[in-house]
Amino acid sequence: MQPRGEDREKEVSMKLFWNEGGEIACAAHMPFAGSDTHAAGRWRVITTNDRIDFAAEVGHAPACATCAAIARRHGEGAHVERRSNECAMCAGAVA
Ligand SMILES: [Zn+2]
Ligand SMILES: [Zn+2]
Repeated sequence: MQPRGEDREKEVSMKLFWNEGGEIACAAHMPFAGSDTHAAGRWRVITTNDRIDFAAEVGHAPACATCAAIARRHGEGAHVERRSNECAMCAGAVA
């Protein structure tokens, strides 16, 4: 059975990575692939199995730490006067 295009797209946009230290980042917030930081941290993609294991162990799904911090600031009203280009919720408000 072929996966529906819609599902595949969602999977890509939600792609997360983590490093040896357990830091989690999305494609936009992880160190640039090919940079020293990226190589030193041994960043790799979080697979579906990794997500399940993580959720079972930690109690919530893995999420990008930077995105989470931006979302938290948004929730605190930090973007009321000036929208953040990085903030998905601000971007959603514009669309
Ligand atoms: Zn992110
Ligand atoms: Zn915002």
